Amino acid sequence: MAIEITLLGTGSPLPDPLRAGPSTLVQAGQVNLLVDAGRGVLMRLAAAGLGPSEITAVLLTHLHSDHLTDLNDVITTRWITSFPATPLIVLGPPGTANVVDHLMSMLRADISYRIHHHDDLTDPPVVHVTECVAGMTFEFEDVTVTVGETDHKPVEPSIGFRVDYEGVGVVLAGDTVPCEGLDNLCAGADALVHTAIRSDIVAMIPLQRMQDILDYHSSVEQAAQTAQRAGVGTLVLTHYVPAFAAGEGQDWRDLAATEFGGRIELGDDLHRVSVTSAAV
Ligand SMILES: [Zn+2]
Ligand SMILES: [Zn+2]
Repeated sequence: MAIEITLLGTGSPLPDPLRAGPSTLVQAGQVNLLVDAGRGVLMRLAAAGLGPSEITAVLLTHLHSDHLTDLNDVITTRWITSFPATPLIVLGPPGTANVVDHLMSMLRADISYRIHHHDDLTDPPVVHVTECVAGMTFEFEDVTVTVGETDHKPVEPSIGFRVDYEGVGVVLAGDTVPCEGLDNLCAGADALVHTAIRSDIVAMIPLQRMQDILDYHSSVEQAAQTAQRAGVGTLVLTHYVPAFAAGEGQDWRDLAATEFGGRIELGDDLHRVSVTSAAV
């Protein structure tokens, strides 16, 4: 059995014509988990062959705008393309309910237009938010999702998720520096999906706004060290700052390989990685 990972969006806050905002699709059996919902997420989800009505749950790692800027699109488009409309499950850190409440306020006019125009659309979209702290677990069919603490300070709280399915474990770290919470979540997992920045390049950009991002993201090497400590078989890097040109990224791979001896995956949007248990 395998867990399928699709990097829907490998970009960052910086708009990129080839890279959507941060979002990763994790598919295990019949369960489709959307981890973060950045810019263009539904376009990329469509390219992966899925619509928003097929999402089992949205998992938010933190409340930075680039990781959730298209959550409103997921809410609306799921609502109008589901027959019947089913609640959208959102797991996120404390503060998520407030964000969703305000998104619903933003959407109020649209919701009322559509309810008045479509006879069979009688109720507004329903979003079930659960605010998560480390140690919580959730079951979706035969898939278990476990929440762990990450460190993206001063953005807090931030969380990571571990998805376990039939003996295969995949961790979605989100934005974080190396930390004990992430190490704990990764223990015994088969793959780690980690956002990363090229600290060596960013450090040379003479712009304070860029210098500021150095202290709350993992460098490629740090993400690789976390993977090595955990003993995972596969490291998947995403959220490339600065982004590499389409089809390239060998320099990122080489840097990661200085710290991690397993399989290294990275690429362009829609890059797909199949993870099986190392124990098999
Ligand atoms: Zn962030
Ligand atoms: Zn980010």
